[in-house]
Parts: sequence; C-alpha cells; structure tokens
Amino acid sequence: MQESINLISNMKRLHSRNHDEEELKSESYNRSSSISNRKCSLFTSTRFASLFLLTLFLFSLSFILPHSPSTITTTSLLQLKQTQQQGLNIGASDSAEFLKDTLLGGLLAAGFDERSCLSRYHSVKGLSGNPSPYLISRLRKYEALHKECGPYTKSYNKTVKDLRSGLLSESPDCKYVVWISYSGLGNRILTLASAFLYALLTNRVLLVDPGVDMVDLFCEPFPDVSWFLPPDFPLNSQLQSFNQKSDQCHGKMLKNKSVTNSKVPSFVYLHLAHDYDDEDKLFFCDEDQKFLHKVPWLVMRTDNYFTPSLFLMPSFEHELSNLFPNKETVFHFLGKYLFHPTNKVWGLVIRYYEAYLTNVDERVGIQIRVFDTRPGPFQHVLDQILACTLKENLLPNVVKKHDIPSSFGKFKSKAVLMTSLSSGYFEKVRDMYWEFPTVTGEVVGVYQPSHEGHQQTGKQIHNQKAWAEMYLLSLTDVLVTSSWSTFGYVAQGLGGLKPWILYKPENETAPDPPCQHAMSMEPCFHAPPFYDCKAKRGTDTGALVPHVRHCEDMSWGLKLVDN
Ligand code: GDP
Repeated sequence: MQESINLISNMKRLHSRNHDEEELKSESYNRSSSISNRKCSLFTSTRFASLFLLTLFLFSLSFILPHSPSTITTTSLLQLKQTQQQGLNIGASDSAEFLKDTLLGGLLAAGFDERSCLSRYHSVKGLSGNPSPYLISRLRKYEALHKECGPYTKSYNKTVKDLRSGLLSESPDCKYVVWISYSGLGNRILTLASAFLYALLTNRVLLVDPGVDMVDLFCEPFPDVSWFLPPDFPLNSQLQSFNQKSDQCHGKMLKNKSVTNSKVPSFVYLHLAHDYDDEDKLFFCDEDQKFLHKVPWLVMRTDNYFTPSLFLMPSFEHELSNLFPNKETVFHFLGKYLFHPTNKVWGLVIRYYEAYLTNVDERVGIQIRVFDTRPGPFQHVLDQILACTLKENLLPNVVKKHDIPSSFGKFKSKAVLMTSLSSGYFEKVRDMYWEFPTVTGEVVGVYQPSHEGHQQTGKQIHNQKAWAEMYLLSLTDVLVTSSWSTFGYVAQGLGGLKPWILYKPENETAPDPPCQHAMSMEPCFHAPPFYDCKAKRGTDTGALVPHVRHCEDMSWGLKLVDN
C-alpha cells in the first residue's frame, strides 16, 4: 500500500515540478544522494504490478484456507517475499516479530520507500522503553524543518548565497549545524547523535559532511531531503582544514575578543574535539550560546559524545526534560531514529544473525578493544574476559579434570558473538567450549564475524563490517564491552543494554574485579568541561545534578543516568 502511495506522490511531484533551475538541481541532488532510493524507484512500477497480483492471490487464499495462520498477515507475507527477493532471507519467527512495531512506537517517520532501507522496517529488536510523545512531535517538527531548509531548497539557496557573499540577512529563515566527518566510526555515530540533539535544541538543520567514507553506511534518516552536504557547498574544500588556529574558530574569536554583538559572522567553526581548550569549551555556556544563536552556519568538528554537558546548561534544561523524561534513553532513541544500516550493511547483519545467532536461548556479546600498539592477543586480556564472564555467570565454566562426554538432551544454548580486530581471543574461547563440556550442560557456540587486524580509514567494506558488528552486538541479550571504546558504546546504546564493562588493564595484568555492570546504557563523554559558567570558575561537573555522573570506565568522563 505504501508503495502505491509513494508512486502516486512521486508522479504528482514530477507533474507539478516547475522548471526553476534550482529546483531541478535540488531534485537531481535528492535523487542522487540516496543510491538505494534511486535503484528502488527504477523497478517500483514493475514490482508494484506483481505485488498487486500477489496481494490478490493472497486475498483469495484467505477464503480458500479457513485456518490460515493468524500471526502472519497478508502484509507480512508480502514483506517476507520482498525481503527474500532482496536476498535478505529472514526467519519466519523473526519476521513475525518485525511486524509488531515497524515504526518503533512512532519514533520513525512514515512515508519512506520500504525497500530502499529494509533495516528501518525490519528491526529485530524493539525499543527499550517508550519515547515521550513530546520527542515524537519534535522529531516530526524537525523533519518538516529539514524539508524546508535542506539542500537546494529555496531557503538553503538563499542562506548559501549569503554565506558566499559574507553578508548577513536580517534573520535567515534557516540556520544550520554542519557536522565534519572526523575520527573512527563509533565516535562519528556518537557525535552525529550529539550534533543532531544540539540542532533540535537550537532549531537548526543538521547537514553532514560525507567525507570519504560516510557513504553507503546509513540510510537517509529524514524523509524527502538529504542530510548530506551537497558537493557544491561553498565551505567543502575547507572543512577538513578548520582547526583552532582558523580565524573563524569560536575559541580563537573569544581569545581575540572579536566576538561582538554588532558584527555577526556568516559562519563560525566550533572546535569540540578531544584537544579543545578552555575558550572552545565556552560553547557549553548559555552566554556564548546567545552569540552563536545569531550565526547562520555553525561548522562543528568533534569526536566526543558531548550530550551530557548539554544537560548541564540551564537554557536547555526544560526542553531536555520534556524530550527525555528518562535521561538514560537519549542515545538509544536518537540512535534508533538516525542510524539505519543501508541494505548492503543490513545484508551483512541479517545473514550473520540468521546463520549464527537465531534459535538459541541467549545471545552474549563480547566486544574486545585493546588500546595497545603491539599486535596481541594478550594473555591478560583473555584472562580478564574469562574472569568477567565466568564470575558474573554470563557464560558457564567448563569441566577440565574429568573426561566427561557432553550428554545429549535439552540443555540451554548460548551463542557468543565476539568482536575484535584480532582473532586470538575468539579462537581461545571457541576452543575452550569445543574441547571441554560445560558444568551446566549448556551448549555454547562462539562466533566472530571479522578480524580486520587494524583500524582502516577510507575503506568502505572495513567501515561496513565495523558498523554491521556494532549493530549485531546491539542485538544480543547480554553485553560485555571494553573500557573507553565508542564502538562498544554504540552497541550498548542501540541495543538498550547496560553492559558489563571490562576495566582497563594496567601493567599487563587482568584487573580484579575484571568488570563492572554499567549504571546506564548511555555513552561516556570523554573530555567534558569542568567549568561553572555562572561562577566563572572550575567545578566538578559530575557532581552538579543527579543525572550527570562520572563514567564507570573513565573517572573524569561524564554520562547520563536515570535518577
Ligand atoms: P573506538 O576507537 O573503540 O572508540 O571505536 P571507533 O569505532 O571510533 O574506532 C575504531 C575503529 O577500529 C572502528 O571504527 C573500526 O574501523 C575498527 N575496529 C575496532 N574494533 C573493531 C572490531 O571489533 N571489528 C571491526 N570490524 N572493526 C573494528
């Protein structure tokens, strides 16, 4: 049904299209910005005819078969068929689950072409908790704003013209946050969520620098208009070179005392990366936000999940508590709203999930990230993984002394999904459960999708695998993560999981205790400011309000918890 609505609205749009040059440009950009969307529209009409026939056939079947399975509706069969045609075959039991809540309780907007982004509709796991009605209404409002102000719209063209000329309109219709592609994929996912929240709070439109390796990872999150900066955006060639020394850097402007109310620049660069200084950090003060509010283009570089510090700003307090009555769901809801794997990545996810992670009683994820320049694997890390999972009863111990053959029978089964750049830890754990029986009789299968060796930038399949693995980890029931790793934060946040965090090893010894249960599913802000904007002096920002605390894995970091 959605298909035919899309088809009709597409046709209407084509007919009503005027021949204004900018609009044509916009049309072609929005089409080219989503490769999958384009591919899909090419065969929509032929598919539509065959789906219509299939619907008729199924409809007549419902009369012929008096006891047709009630859980699988006509729509679900259609969806299953479509999914299989895409080569993304999903188990029948899971497919029934997919249909319960396709739009995640209203979190996601309707009106997308389903086949252009299967992951949006086929979420294997539901949300952890319910998004507030206010968050849902603000997301719909944001989508309308994005449609009004996104690339090549009338308002966008006008604001870009001002940016080119350096002149400022009295009050531009639309203001923007431009997110610069920077750092590892886990970092990027967290910073995009923070930048989007900032855009929501300040009524700005988020535009994303595609960089070299942001393409074919995520579906477009907003209907109709792309979130990517167009190729002719005037600042494109400067984005990667903006730094603290740039004249447009907010921190440098403050040092130079060039921030005045009389002269508002057409754009400001916000340096919010780990090495930012005291002036850059004034971004988190309401007083400075008053000035930034006037600037049409804010260009942001960050590798930090800076959301917790937004919760310490009085000007955002009321809005944030309406958006997120439960503070620890911020990344969970924004992440589930923004980040949908493209069909290519979804294929990696679902094929792996089907092959190794279905039909078990419990899925345990173990994410290993070792911040050591030597290759590894390290014995103390393996010791720590086993100490944590056995001590906390996440995995059963094995019987090594006696040669007891495993007995056949109805024992609980566990699938362990391990992720790591190295294969060493996985091989040891897998062999342990192959060579010895478990004390409980449980059957344990151990799997690791990839072992890429080292972090690789600019390589598409490497990023796609990394993204697929974060997503797969999020589908587990119990999760163990490594300290300091944003890769793990993404998995826990998307999965709505409070992980067991492996403490950071010191002096090549497994810490005792080896791990700790997280207070909340939120990621940690690794480099927060420690400044009281009102009193203009240093303060412990982890001790100001009950819902912003220091992280378990980084004593100076900040994270949101539900109070
Ligand atoms: P962080 O460094 O742990 O905070 O996570 P990031 O995702 O920001 O950067 C690490 C990068 O290294 C990832 O994006 C991947 O490119 C790569 N990487 C690290 N661990 C893994 C892993 O377990 N699997 C895969 N496929 N890639 C990994």
